[in-house]
Amino acid sequence: MKDWSAAATALYDGGFRRMFIDGQWCEACSGEVLEARNPADGSLLASVPKGGAADIDAAVTAARKAFEGPWSKWTPFERQALLLRIAEGFETEWENLCLSDTLDMGMPIQRTLANSRRVLGMLRFYAGQAVTIHGATIPNSFPGEIYSQTVREPIGVVGAIIPWNAPIAGSIWKIAPAIATGCTVVLKPSEEASLTVLMIARIMQEAGLPDGVLNIVTGLGADAGAALAEHPGVDKIVFTGSTATGQAIARSATGNLKRVSLELGGKSPVVVCRDADIEKAVPVAAMAVFANSGQICIAGSRLFVAREIHDEFLRRVADYAAALKIGHGINDDTDIGPIITARQADRIASYLEAGPQEGAQVLTGGGRVEGPGLDGGHFFHPTVLGGVTDQMSVAREEIFGPVISAMPFDTIDEVVERANATPYGLAAGVFSTHLGTAHKLAHRLKAGSVWVNMYHAIDPAVPFGGVKMSGYGREGGTEHMEEYLDTKAIWINAD
Ligand code: NAD
Repeated sequence: MKDWSAAATALYDGGFRRMFIDGQWCEACSGEVLEARNPADGSLLASVPKGGAADIDAAVTAARKAFEGPWSKWTPFERQALLLRIAEGFETEWENLCLSDTLDMGMPIQRTLANSRRVLGMLRFYAGQAVTIHGATIPNSFPGEIYSQTVREPIGVVGAIIPWNAPIAGSIWKIAPAIATGCTVVLKPSEEASLTVLMIARIMQEAGLPDGVLNIVTGLGADAGAALAEHPGVDKIVFTGSTATGQAIARSATGNLKRVSLELGGKSPVVVCRDADIEKAVPVAAMAVFANSGQICIAGSRLFVAREIHDEFLRRVADYAAALKIGHGINDDTDIGPIITARQADRIASYLEAGPQEGAQVLTGGGRVEGPGLDGGHFFHPTVLGGVTDQMSVAREEIFGPVISAMPFDTIDEVVERANATPYGLAAGVFSTHLGTAHKLAHRLKAGSVWVNMYHAIDPAVPFGGVKMSGYGREGGTEHMEEYLDTKAIWINAD
């Protein structure tokens, strides 16, 4: 097992980290700062500027200047080469990037390290996409020699707002397609986890990113975030976060009718059919929720199990959960790290109280973990609740913690109806060895992604996003390029 503690101390010593506007490392106009604390023990890692509306304005101005200036002259091949250099920089600094995320938001180091395939893949995938942008020559109905064609143009200044639960992947997913298309970006990271995003900006600057193409404004959602969403100089907002904030952002965007795409919350169903391969399904169904302590938008937190196998399946998931190791993210053998904040921990605790009060049975876990080495952080036992009904709050609301709400079902028609009876539609899981059942469920479940006999698969080349109140727009794949491009029609009268 690797000892990460010396590297951790070298990385963050409690000092001040500047934010990044127009290629300069700067303080907030107000001079105010926010503390960045390690959720595992509450220790101070660093402080960052508390940016506000004036800083957002400066960043948007820089992004506009870059968009209309030299950046607009970069060829797709030059943007491709830049993305490939950034990927190299990431590869060189990968361990430090992952350690930074683990310290700042608690995700176990083995999990942050394992994300490399996806993040480096995104940078390289969008490097490839940069040179594929093209329009069409379209025959029209006009008489004579009148030609019509389309060209694809970058949409302009993109305002990106991300949550705290996956800063590396979350920011790269927003930045890489922007560079590929020729857009510019003002990114506001979460106030709970800004540090890695600042490190990413430094790597990009060293790789040759021109001034103003990426600007990072650290700050609170209600100040810097709201100012970005409202700013008339922003052409598009790409947001990942809670449904309530997504709704507020969609309202703010009406001022200049900026385009919006939203990746929001979920209450995703996992359906385990009676013909499932139980051995394979148990760990996947468990980690569909417990990965990152349940702080994942796609958490498969409603577990529907065929009545014939229900009791045995739940017993096995509970045994699996009970064996998971809880601790600081920088311990190599940690499966379950801390919860991000006291507020989020209190929210999880309130659901763990409400569930049993409404009639659910605690099959394993059910509360906080305290003990030597866990002072100053908020840790929870991975919890499996049985005897849950569709009406209970633990079956309806996003908990964003390590809690599975399990329910039996009898028929496929019934489970489809119950699984779809939610305002959300981010993801769904199906476990079945019967080809017809698997296909039927995959097509009938209303979600942006459905995984069959697996979970959590997210790839640079494959679109990801939600339906219903889990949002709209897609990240990943060629669909993401579309989000950042406009189509212009050009008519030529050659007569
Ligand atoms: P959040 O909505 O509280 O915050 C997300 C971001 O929005 C933060 O940067 C925050 O500062 C900012 N923000 C807050 N209020 C704002 C406002 N009024 N205007 C503009 N910006 C504002 O969410 P969170 O607690 O950071 O993250 C958890 C939520 O994110 C969960 O609901 C989770 O499901 C969701 N999430 C979704 C995805 C996805 O891809 N669908 C991925 C990760 C997380």
